[in-house]
Amino acid sequence: MGENRRLIYLDHLASTPLDPEVRAAMLPWLTAAAAGNPHSDHTAGWRAAAAVDDTRASIARLIGARPSEIILTSGATEANNIALLGLADTVGRIIVSAIEHPSVLEPVEALRNRGMAVTVLPVDRVGRVDPATLAAALTREGAAGRTLVSIMAANNEIGTVQPLAEIGRMCRAHGAIFHTDAAQALSTQTLDVAAAAIDLLTLSGHKLYGPGGIGALYVRPGVPCRPLFFGGGQQGGLRPGTVPVALCAGLGEACRQVLAGREDDTRRIAALRDRLYAALCEACPGLQRNSPAEGVLPGCLNVSVPGLDAADFLLDLPGLAVSTGAACSSLSGRPSHVLRAICLTAEQAHGSLRFGLGRSTTADDVEAAVAQISAALRDRGRPE
Ligand code: PMP
Repeated sequence: MGENRRLIYLDHLASTPLDPEVRAAMLPWLTAAAAGNPHSDHTAGWRAAAAVDDTRASIARLIGARPSEIILTSGATEANNIALLGLADTVGRIIVSAIEHPSVLEPVEALRNRGMAVTVLPVDRVGRVDPATLAAALTREGAAGRTLVSIMAANNEIGTVQPLAEIGRMCRAHGAIFHTDAAQALSTQTLDVAAAAIDLLTLSGHKLYGPGGIGALYVRPGVPCRPLFFGGGQQGGLRPGTVPVALCAGLGEACRQVLAGREDDTRRIAALRDRLYAALCEACPGLQRNSPAEGVLPGCLNVSVPGLDAADFLLDLPGLAVSTGAACSSLSGRPSHVLRAICLTAEQAHGSLRFGLGRSTTADDVEAAVAQISAALRDRGRPE
């Protein structure tokens, strides 16, 4: 591999690297001088509490909410679980799309096993939910208590962006509660909880160039969400436990950086993604694009190489960080539920590679990645 010794990181959908300014914002809170529980009543506690308040304000600005509506969690998995399980006693039915993240689908499956009525909406060949299908499901199921709809803002495997405002307004018109998992969307998509009639929204620090281990749930006032666990009563009792100040400081700064740079990031990353796709098409005859060409996250490119076992192929590419399907589903070794939902054959799904470009990606990264892939295909006796 010689000149390509450095690792080319094209896996921003799995995790975004910590932004240097975010790291700088966190460091003071990791020193002994900053000791203080944000829930303590003394100067050190008040300082820490001010930093946490600042984080809530910065998250709220990013999504058009109020700071008091933000609950800090350990990440998107926990936020999704609070949204779904926390409303289980209130709602009679849950509607989800077939391509939700496992941290939505699995709690919903657990509720179905306990007797909850569940509808799984199909998606089209590029992963989009048809609002008319949702409208039909909402109308059909209007009778037995309130309905909770959980549809992600953007998919983590193929990058499809959903028509969220249309979905949100439809839910509001039918009196349904609308939750969206926006973990993948917020680093590049503008989202406003009021404009899209969102009742609950999930986000995650490590998808926003912030630290891992922290996320948040927006809860619109009046949404009757209950806690999943109990303790010291922090955060209005909905998510008790001491909040981690350094992680909060990082998430707050990450949201500020996203708000300031999102438009430029989006343009630049989309151009690099198009360049990557064009170069891959030349390098891999028969390449199939699984992610949509439009209405898609700028940094996402999911492709299938005919006849390739992607997991095996990646072993030939130690200098390149890309994923097969989703990092989460590659843990289970099962073919991705998302790729199956968009009707890929098992062979196409096994040949799928997911590239995630992001803020730190350069044109050199794209060129070097394609050079490595071409060389590895050549070594396997495939044409360039
Ligand atoms: N939802 C989506 C759409 C995701 O992509 C992920 C991470 N892969 C999660 C939820 C879980 O996020 P976290 O790692 O913060 O728990």
